[in-house]
Amino acid sequence: MIYFDNAATTFPKPESVRRAVNQAIVNYGANPGRSGHKLAMKSSEIIYRCRSKAASFFGDDNPADVIFTLNCTHSINIVLKGLLSEGDHVVVSDLEHNAVMRPLQALKNKKNVSYTTANVSDKSDEETLNNFRDALQENTKLVVCTHVSNVWGIKLPVERITAMCHQYGIYVLIDAAQSAGLLDINSKQNKYDFVCTAGHKGLYGPMGTGLLITPHHNLLDTFMEGGTGSGSEFFEQPAEPPDKFESGTPNLIGIAGLSAGFDFLNAVGIKQIELHEMRLLTALYDRLSYNKKIILYTERPTSGKCGGVISFNVKNIDSETAAEYLNQNYSVAVRAGLHCSPLAHKHFGTEEVGAVRIAPSYFNTMKEIDLLARALTQI
Ligand code: PMP
Repeated sequence: MIYFDNAATTFPKPESVRRAVNQAIVNYGANPGRSGHKLAMKSSEIIYRCRSKAASFFGDDNPADVIFTLNCTHSINIVLKGLLSEGDHVVVSDLEHNAVMRPLQALKNKKNVSYTTANVSDKSDEETLNNFRDALQENTKLVVCTHVSNVWGIKLPVERITAMCHQYGIYVLIDAAQSAGLLDINSKQNKYDFVCTAGHKGLYGPMGTGLLITPHHNLLDTFMEGGTGSGSEFFEQPAEPPDKFESGTPNLIGIAGLSAGFDFLNAVGIKQIELHEMRLLTALYDRLSYNKKIILYTERPTSGKCGGVISFNVKNIDSETAAEYLNQNYSVAVRAGLHCSPLAHKHFGTEEVGAVRIAPSYFNTMKEIDLLARALTQI
């Protein structure tokens, strides 16, 4: 199978990640932070080490700013539901995933939270910035902005959007699901308020891992309460992070794998990974632009302007049918349809037909791109 569905989750995982998961399950899989025996201490140490690696990977000097979650959706829910109250207004980009739109819609229904979408310009960051500024209101508390669109690969100027919002005292949530592990996210330097991401995509960790990185734990109400192994004599949830947001047994095995994922990224270097993916994507784009059957929507991918995704359609063929053709005839795994992002599809008018998405990882090769491009000439 040739796997190009890495925007959903990366596959395969690096050998070192597989080994770390195996070691956790075979050698020391005790419940961390609960008991004082050697195995529990080893588990706690693995979790602490991963937290420290995550903090420095995201340019944050405080490991307690890193909250382990189940996935990016979980991280986003912690922020939206912990921060927003009755009557608050939110600005989102028009490329947001349902991981943002659905909790926001629930808050609209239940708490009278309102939201406005700001259009992302594919041509000018200046225009995007102005659209965000124009969408702000007196009661805007938060701006939510995907770093890279999971459908179109477009990179948003999140550094500038954050700086602009801070002039008005507005917090910013960056959805880094598609950018973490590919683009530099310097949380402290860029003063990001909330960075939400998955551990199982570009960070090469296992599924069931996610991260929330924030220095603003005091602004967030808890989303869930329970046992943490600390302050057990009190019914009150611990007030300090990470325990404030990490109730119940953590995903030790996943976190052990994620920790190896950070080591892998540091060893290879994210710039190297980005260059590799860009080489594959530009080669594919060039081949597709010669194929008269293909409809491309975005500009030729360039480093600094996009992430590791492109989407297209085959003329007169439904995106799901095209994906099934690749699956059945060439054993190529891609994702079609709406990619949980109807808003992003509206941006290019593909909300009825969806699109075929190609998302390579560090493990894809030019030979695989070549096969895909040839398969698409035969469709
Ligand atoms: N945001 C974006 C931009 C995504 O691409 C995804 C995953 N497709 C998510 C959020 C949700 O991530 P997870 O599946 O880890 O919850």
